[in-house]
Amino acid sequence: MYRIGIDLGGTNIAAGLVRDLEILDRVSVKTNVPRPLETIIDDMVDLVHTLMDRNGLKRTDIVRVGVGVPCTANVENGHMEDANNLGFDDEPFLEPLREKLGLPVYFGNDANVAAWGEYKTGGYEEDSFLMVTIGTGIGGGIILNGKLWDGYNFAAGEFGHMTIPGDGSLCTCGRRNCFEACASATALIRQAKEAMERDPLTILHQCGEVEAKSVFDGAAAGDALCIRLLDTYTTCLAEGMANIINIFQPGTLCIGGGVSKAGTLLLDPLKAKTAERICSKNSRRNTRIVLAKLDNDAGILGAALLGN
Ligand SMILES: [Zn+2]
Repeated sequence: MYRIGIDLGGTNIAAGLVRDLEILDRVSVKTNVPRPLETIIDDMVDLVHTLMDRNGLKRTDIVRVGVGVPCTANVENGHMEDANNLGFDDEPFLEPLREKLGLPVYFGNDANVAAWGEYKTGGYEEDSFLMVTIGTGIGGGIILNGKLWDGYNFAAGEFGHMTIPGDGSLCTCGRRNCFEACASATALIRQAKEAMERDPLTILHQCGEVEAKSVFDGAAAGDALCIRLLDTYTTCLAEGMANIINIFQPGTLCIGGGVSKAGTLLLDPLKAKTAERICSKNSRRNTRIVLAKLDNDAGILGAALLGN
C-alpha cells in the first residue's frame, strides 16, 4: 500500500509517493501566493492524481494523504490558522481536500511534521524525541510517548521564542533575546556582517554573499574571526538546548535545518557546551544530541506518515 505526503511551503508545493518509508516518486508546483486557498487545494488534488496516474495506481492503492502546512494546523476543525506567509487565517482546509480526493487526509504544522518524519524513519527506539530546526528562524517538533505533541491550541514547539542570555536583539515576536533572534542562521549572518566591518583581514570579505555556511567554512579554514563567531554562536545555541533538555529530558534531541549541514563543526562544540549547562549533568543517562538525516525529505515523509 502507498501513502502520499505533501509539503506546502512558501515557494513550492511538493508531493511524494511513499512506500516503506521511502519516496518513490515526486512532483511539485509553485505555491505562488497570495491566491485563494481553494486553488492551492485544487493543485494538491492535481499533484495526487499525477502521482497516481504516473505510477498506475488506483485510489484504493492509497491508504492516506498527509500534508505539512506552514502554520497552525487545527486538527479539531481542519482549519489552517495564522498562515501569515500564505496570506490567510482560519480557513477550512482538511474537509475540502478530503472531499475532493475521496481519501483519508491528515495534516500538521510543517516543523512538527518534519520532526515526525525524522522520528519515524530514523529507527529511534526511545519514545521521547525533540527536533529543533535551525534555519531562517528556529522551529521545532515535540514527540512524547511516541506521539506528536502539538499542544492544546495546536501551536506547541515554538522553541525559537524562548529567551536566552543574548545580545539584546529584537525578535519578530516583539520580545528581546529570543532564541531565534540570537541563534538562527539569520542571526549568525547578522553577527558575521557586523563583526567583519571591524575586521578587514577576515576571510569573510572574500565571500560574495555572507551565509551561515561562510562562517563555518571560515572557521574550518582557521579564520580567527569565524572561529570567534562560531564560539559565541554555539554558546547561544547551547543555552537554548540546555533549556529544552532541562524541561523535557528527551531521549534524543535532533538538530535539523540548514545550519545542521555544518556537521561536526556544529555538533561537537554544541554537545560539549550543552553538557556543561544541563541540570542533569551527573545523571547516568542523558539526552543524545544528533543531526537530522532526512534534509528536505522530512516534510514529505513526515506528512505521509501522519495519522498512525
Ligand atoms: Zn520571539
